[in-house]
Amino acid sequence: MNLADITTVKSILSQPQKIVIVPHKNPDGDAMGACLGLCSFLKGMGQTAHVVSPNDYPKFLKWMPGNDEVVNFEWQPQEAYKLLDEATVIFTLDFNDLSRIGSMEAALKDRDADFIMIDHHQQPSDYAKMTYSDVTMSSTCEMVYNFIEYLGLTNSITADIATNLYTGIMTDTGSFKYRSTSSKTHRVVAELIDKGADNMEIHRQVFDTNSPSRLHLLGVALSNMVILPEYKTAYITLTQDELDQHEFKKGDTEGFVNYGLTLEGIIFALIFIENKEEGIIKISLRSVGDFSVNQFAREHFDGGGHDNAAGGKSDLSMQETVDRFNKILKNYKSELNP
Ligand code: 5GP
Ligand code: MN
Repeated sequence: MNLADITTVKSILSQPQKIVIVPHKNPDGDAMGACLGLCSFLKGMGQTAHVVSPNDYPKFLKWMPGNDEVVNFEWQPQEAYKLLDEATVIFTLDFNDLSRIGSMEAALKDRDADFIMIDHHQQPSDYAKMTYSDVTMSSTCEMVYNFIEYLGLTNSITADIATNLYTGIMTDTGSFKYRSTSSKTHRVVAELIDKGADNMEIHRQVFDTNSPSRLHLLGVALSNMVILPEYKTAYITLTQDELDQHEFKKGDTEGFVNYGLTLEGIIFALIFIENKEEGIIKISLRSVGDFSVNQFAREHFDGGGHDNAAGGKSDLSMQETVDRFNKILKNYKSELNP
């Protein structure tokens, strides 16, 4: 954020505003942490603020402070539209393009409200009055902390705000192990612990609240894994039938894709998950090192994200999608074996 932006934001927030805060569709820990943390902070400033999520999110995030007040656009369209109609400021957090909010995009387009984007994804679109974009950042939650710091208000960070921001930094950094985790990230996290984030309890709530059926589904995913050593690649498939047989609930497959990267020598991992309702195969892509899954997802699977973590989709059947992927992969042999 530059000085002009900080001045603009300070001047906007010096007046009473009606604020709506929006995460991307299928929000993850970072998106929800950033929205709930920022919402609590803005309310603390005396502003009117609400989080409107495009759709539902996993149960392992539903303990987060402020969760009970989140409006779900899919389930509560009237409430969502009312808040949007009244909004004077709309924060969009943890996404780079309005297409990332799915069917909620139409509800946000052409609004008079001042849009403020805070995000760390590559190639941000130009729709906001103020864009705070930094692709080197570990998480949007770290950026929300910086945002509060730029306003000179870190003293206003309560235990609830700290808990939300800690959660997003933790989930988006793979518990502080990804490349984007900087010494500054650790300094921010240390501050958040000092301000009341209970790190042990947060890890437990997010990672140690599995259902038996989720672990059994992980077993299926791992036995479905295909390993292609010549491409340093491993991929997992999960069909709708397999999900149904394990009482699949939103969030149950979170993190499965990372198992491929725990194999020695594997630098590219994917999971293909069938979603019959949406008629798509949802793809998650991960890499270690210089192989950009953002580029791969953009070029071949209508997606994007970060260099080492991206998503995409396919309208073909599972078999056709996997066949297509295997064909595309042939062109990447040298890039994957530098
Ligand atoms: P995940 O695989 O966990 O769903 O997402 C990994 C990263 O890629 C996240 O930062 C997410 O925001 C981004 N991402 C996931 N799906 C898509 C997509 O369909 N399009 C784009 N542009 N980004 C995506
Ligand atoms: Mn994020």
